[in-house]
Amino acid sequence: MSDIKKLSGKPAWHELTTGMTINKGGTSKLFNTGEWSSEKPTVIEEECRQCLLCSQACPDSAIPVTKNERVKVDTNHCKGCGICVKICPFGAIKMKGVK
Ligand code: SF4
Ligand code: SF4
Repeated sequence: MSDIKKLSGKPAWHELTTGMTINKGGTSKLFNTGEWSSEKPTVIEEECRQCLLCSQACPDSAIPVTKNERVKVDTNHCKGCGICVKICPFGAIKMKGVK
């Protein structure tokens, strides 16, 4: 294990795969793919009717269905594609730039 990985928990540059390809299944928990996004969705609670269409449409499973909790975005894995904004029938999600 490299020193960088020991310190940061992330792979060093020479440990990255060609083209940043993820070659194994089930690794999404290891990669915070949300770091790639330039915008993040925000759910407007007063407008959200909990229909969960956004959860089904999200290609990154970044809007998990949880028991007894309102819809919220897993920002560690949301890539900011904006599909949830387009699919929400109530206009309850807005995108905001990441600073
Ligand atoms: S699609 Fe819109 S209204 Fe439905 S759960 Fe998602 S944010 Fe809420
Ligand atoms: S912006 Fe894209 S990745 Fe993020 S929660 Fe919405 S659909 Fe999922």
